[in-house]
Amino acid sequence: MVLTKKQWILIGSVASVLVVAIVVGVTVGVVVGRKKPEQQTIEPPTTEQTTTEQTTTEQTTIEQRVHAILAEHPLIDGHNDWAWAIRRDFRNNITNVDLYDMTKYHVNNSTPFQTDINRLRKGQVGGQFWSIYTRCTHQGKDATVSFMEQIDLMNRLIAKEPDVFQMATTADEVRQAFQAKKIASLFGIESGQAIESTFSALRLFYQLGVRYMTLTHNCNTPWADQHMVDRPGSTLVKNNGLTEFGKKIIIEMNRLGMLVDLAHVSKKTMLDVLSVSKSPIIFSHSSAYALCNQTRNVQDDVLRLVKDNRGIVMVAFTPIFITCDSNYLGNISGVAAHINHVRNVAGIDSVGLGGDYDGIDETPVGLEDVSTYPKLIEYLISQGNWTDNDIIKLIGGNLLRVMEENEKNARELQETMQPLEDMIPLEDLRKYNFTECRYLDMYPSTTTT
Ligand SMILES: [Zn+2]
Repeated sequence: MVLTKKQWILIGSVASVLVVAIVVGVTVGVVVGRKKPEQQTIEPPTTEQTTTEQTTTEQTTIEQRVHAILAEHPLIDGHNDWAWAIRRDFRNNITNVDLYDMTKYHVNNSTPFQTDINRLRKGQVGGQFWSIYTRCTHQGKDATVSFMEQIDLMNRLIAKEPDVFQMATTADEVRQAFQAKKIASLFGIESGQAIESTFSALRLFYQLGVRYMTLTHNCNTPWADQHMVDRPGSTLVKNNGLTEFGKKIIIEMNRLGMLVDLAHVSKKTMLDVLSVSKSPIIFSHSSAYALCNQTRNVQDDVLRLVKDNRGIVMVAFTPIFITCDSNYLGNISGVAAHINHVRNVAGIDSVGLGGDYDGIDETPVGLEDVSTYPKLIEYLISQGNWTDNDIIKLIGGNLLRVMEENEKNARELQETMQPLEDMIPLEDLRKYNFTECRYLDMYPSTTTT
């Protein structure tokens, strides 16, 4: 067929339109294709966003995902001995101490500081139970005063850096501090010698903001046994767990809303507390006995009781509790194994983090200081069996729930219970020779002693 001039013009026009359409189409396609990844901006997850966030975060790197979780949900560690390290190296003088960068201090060849403001911020720490600790050697002498010195130190430190720290005494106050971009600062006393066996001191420590008490350190109190009595061949004096007075201390702590901390206590003390306590307990810094049979760690039968109690085991990073080998510091995967074990036995609602920074001389490789929490979370996520919601529970959600249950139980108990007024039996004090620095006027038969 021979085409006319008119037909050739028509074909030319159609062809031109097609070429233009193809060029435009390809260009649009390329632009849209390039734009797609840019539209996948990372939004911090919120409690409301669960399924949609999953799709988004799966396409981001694990590092970005962890950063986003920690920006939205407070990571609250159960135990940090910064106050102790400042007492040890600076005799509680902080006027001329650079609290932002303490890597430069190596006082008397002591362990370098593992905590400072720069590294807390880098580690995205949202809240911290600051350990209020002094040595067992104060017991029976000036223990209460020494603990008050450490509370005063932390009060001064928080007041010195009001843009960084904010005191918190309830779960709600932790959330408020976190919203204000401050590190929620909670106090826990380590350990029971602080109260010198009187309810008066216990109640006043509560008023000073203390929200947990570790019942013992590496020494008995006259009313509770420490973990070392469980070591083979131990000849230490024993109370056989909690004494009757010790049981009353647990009840008074429940009534106040002060968390009972079972780190450092003997197994019998753990079992006694778990049968007496009306509120969920904590282990502020202990790991899994099944993986490392240190008496400081928690045995599986106790982990199951912690689950029933709705309590929480906050896994310590202390190398010797992780590896049971004094020649091997362990690493992130070793700590993760303890976290996974506690989770597997006690459940996802009963696991947390209690690094024990500045209370330990050495750390696992990769967890050198408070800036490293994100690396641990990244490792857990990379293993594939931790969802965002699981991580939120681990880093602080479980602890906040335990605090809320203690607060609620305390309110209820206060409606039916009066403050306890018992005194520790004199023979319990004499057993430990704690009567010498104590005037015994409150014990009627000994008023002339
Ligand atoms: Zn400790």
